[in-house]
Amino acid sequence: MEIGTREIELIVREVLAGLDKKSPAPSVNLSRSDNGVFDRVEDAIEAAYNAQRDWINHYKVEDRRRIIEAIRTVAGKHAQSLAAMVQEETGMGRVEDKLQKHLAVIERTPGVECLTTEAISGDGGLMIEEYAPFGVIGAITPSTNPTETIINNTISMIAGGNSVVFNVHPGAKRCCAHCLKLLHQAIVESGGPANLITMQREPDMEAVNIMTADPRIRLMVGTGGMGMVNALLRSGKKTIGAGAGNPPVIVDDTADIKLAAREIYRGASFDNNILCLAEKEVFVMEQAADELIFQLQQEGAFLLQKDQVQEILKLAMIEKNGIYEVNKKWVGKDAALFLNAIGIHCDKNVRLLICETDRNHPFVMVEQLMPVLPIVRLNTFEECMESAKAAESGNRHTASMFSKNVENMTRFAKEIETTIFTKNGATLRGVGIGGEGHTTMTIAGPTGEGLTCAKSFTRRRRCMLAEGGLRIV
Ligand code: NAD
Repeated sequence: MEIGTREIELIVREVLAGLDKKSPAPSVNLSRSDNGVFDRVEDAIEAAYNAQRDWINHYKVEDRRRIIEAIRTVAGKHAQSLAAMVQEETGMGRVEDKLQKHLAVIERTPGVECLTTEAISGDGGLMIEEYAPFGVIGAITPSTNPTETIINNTISMIAGGNSVVFNVHPGAKRCCAHCLKLLHQAIVESGGPANLITMQREPDMEAVNIMTADPRIRLMVGTGGMGMVNALLRSGKKTIGAGAGNPPVIVDDTADIKLAAREIYRGASFDNNILCLAEKEVFVMEQAADELIFQLQQEGAFLLQKDQVQEILKLAMIEKNGIYEVNKKWVGKDAALFLNAIGIHCDKNVRLLICETDRNHPFVMVEQLMPVLPIVRLNTFEECMESAKAAESGNRHTASMFSKNVENMTRFAKEIETTIFTKNGATLRGVGIGGEGHTTMTIAGPTGEGLTCAKSFTRRRRCMLAEGGLRIV
């Protein structure tokens, strides 16, 4: 049998790794591992811990680059089937849009290239600062972008030299396990360590508690609702929190209304509006309101009448003592299903319902994650800003504005303080889907890391060589 250079390299690496281990063989129950998927979170953590030590001690940055390329290739090959699988399991969104999200994270999540070294050379010596790994990261992922977040987080986190234990949303556990296994296989087949990415097969809250309590997990990253983000922040563990949004849009009296309608329609209907950064409510100045509503209808939006808004509200939200909560059964459902449910037979291709409401309506104030877009007409720009701020409710996530008045745009951007602010374009463009800049599925507003990439999941470490060390001047 002929053995190639690559196989020899792998055998030598395995032998060296074995020699390096000073402690006895790890007690992790690897027999329970199925390509990174474990029955017990304790085993998933231990395996990821061992893999990270291997990753950092025996692999070069060039290996990280090569393995990330293999991940992009395999995820690209399976993007269409993953998109379909997610839609099937979660019952939310649209396959064609999920495909775009998958392709965006595959192609536009930065790898090791963003980990640049900073050096200062002076009479006091030579200082370098580098981006070093945290170690094992615990990552919580949402139901709204489940496999997209796994692909995005895996690339960013392992590029930073970390390993990851995922706790995925129970409503998306099968597609997440399938995706994790595909990526795991790609890592191992291209010579990387097994169990660099792991998860517990049946995710639960207890697993999250075990993760936050385990000293080997150095960082928690939570992508999802504020309940989860706040629970992680309270745990005392270092946390990167990517929480909820309720992005407002302002359309002022100088805006190009056709453009505004086209972009708002695209963003608010994309994947049935389950993206945290999608346009959730519009505040339009009186002079522009009729034209905006007309142009949105021209794009294909269905305008709900007053009594129909009431009927949709009854489906979409649950009211208890005047407080409205989203009815999860309707999150991410097709616009046509809402219409059918209230007895309106329509073209299956209707992607977005629009309606006029007042500024305090539950559709405005509650993050619905449905293709139902409320439009509020107001007299002044100041009223638009005030109402947009109230609807965004301090999430500091995403906002957008359509205008040709630079002063108005600057005022709103300063006032709303969101992580993403798009001007004259769909908010999707702010996350690299049709816009400039990298893509991420973890937008860390509450803890301030912003649009995360490999750098966000690293620690800065300094190395100081004093007294003329290695300097050439
Ligand atoms: P969710 O909060 O219901 O679930 C998110 C994850 O947290 C799941 O894995 C869930 O099992 C877990 N979880 C929930 N409560 C928890 C708790 N108390 N302790 C520990 N873990 C807990 O959210 P979802 O429905 O899956 O996703 C939609 C929400 O996520 C929306 O609010 C959306 O805006 C937000 N989101 C934000 C971003 C971002 O980058 N900022 C990205 C995607 C989604």
